[in-house]
Amino acid sequence: MSVTLDFKSDTVTKPTDAMLDAMMSAEVGDDVFGQDPTINALEAKAAGMFGHEAALFCPSGTMTNQIAIKVHTQPGEEVICDRLAHIYNYEGGGIAMNSGCSVRLLHGDKGRFVANDILENINPDDPHHPRTTLVSIENTSNKGGGAIWKQEEVQRIKKVCAENALKLHLDGARLFNALVETGESTQLIGETFDSISICLSKGLGCPVGSLLIGNADFIYQAIRVRKVFGGGMRQAGYLAAAGVFALDNHVERLKKDHALAKEIGNLLQSQSWVSEVMNVETNIVVAMLADAVKQKQIIQALTKLGIETVAFGHGKIRFVTHLSLPSNALDYTADAFKRLEI
Ligand SMILES: *Cc1c(COP(=O)(O)O)cnc(C)c1O
Repeated sequence: MSVTLDFKSDTVTKPTDAMLDAMMSAEVGDDVFGQDPTINALEAKAAGMFGHEAALFCPSGTMTNQIAIKVHTQPGEEVICDRLAHIYNYEGGGIAMNSGCSVRLLHGDKGRFVANDILENINPDDPHHPRTTLVSIENTSNKGGGAIWKQEEVQRIKKVCAENALKLHLDGARLFNALVETGESTQLIGETFDSISICLSKGLGCPVGSLLIGNADFIYQAIRVRKVFGGGMRQAGYLAAAGVFALDNHVERLKKDHALAKEIGNLLQSQSWVSEVMNVETNIVVAMLADAVKQKQIIQALTKLGIETVAFGHGKIRFVTHLSLPSNALDYTADAFKRLEI
């Protein structure tokens, strides 16, 4: 039987048997009426973890980010984020389409900017300029190769935001990948941000779902925006049960994904077709190809050997590790690399 190792993304995971059991035995109700007990429990659990008042279960991380931006801003205002940010690159232009805002892009290091960059990019209070009202950071940074933010810098950013009446949002699609490495608490993250988005459908292994976390007034407004965006779901407690299970069982194990990612990174480093591997901090490995022109050819050759990856910008390919990879993934990959003909 031919094996396929799917390194395309940590979104490709399928529920484990234990997760499926939890889903199948969920108690459900109509969540648009606020009557799904499993969704209510998941939201209360997430809010409590971060020391916030409330949370909202949504179909995707794009939706949680876009709802946050919509609630924090008015049309004509400006959002500050890094040029690598998911909210800018991978959400279909939603900041413009949903919120009518412009974006000020910062040129950080692997998706991470510093507090001073914000100070330099807040528009003066003058009718010529869009009003700057929101800053968003992404931890870990996807396009930054899974890079983790330094909490000291995030604290400085929070201070600048507070002094300039800016809201601070966290796109924490892979926040838990950062926290298992730094050991920082969810409570500390909660104190730092006005709103937090976390994805359950990435490394945590759920089939669907993201959470938006914030104070009661923020979530009250977010519920209305979610309805407008078409994200009000009914008996979605079956999905929320996977989220409860993942928060209880799939956080600590992310360290295993990081260990595998480091090994895959080392392996790639020694391949003649790779010129450089970005420093592996979490579960994302980005390899720069020695010959950028061969990008498509290499991805196809790897696919033939059962190794699925994705192009990640010009001359780069990305490997992401996750819980659905088999325990022999490293050996299998090493063997496939030996057989690779390019
Ligand atoms: C995956 C991801 C999201 C959300 O994506 P969805 O596919 O809409 O759930 C948001 N931000 C980052 C950094 C991501 O990697």
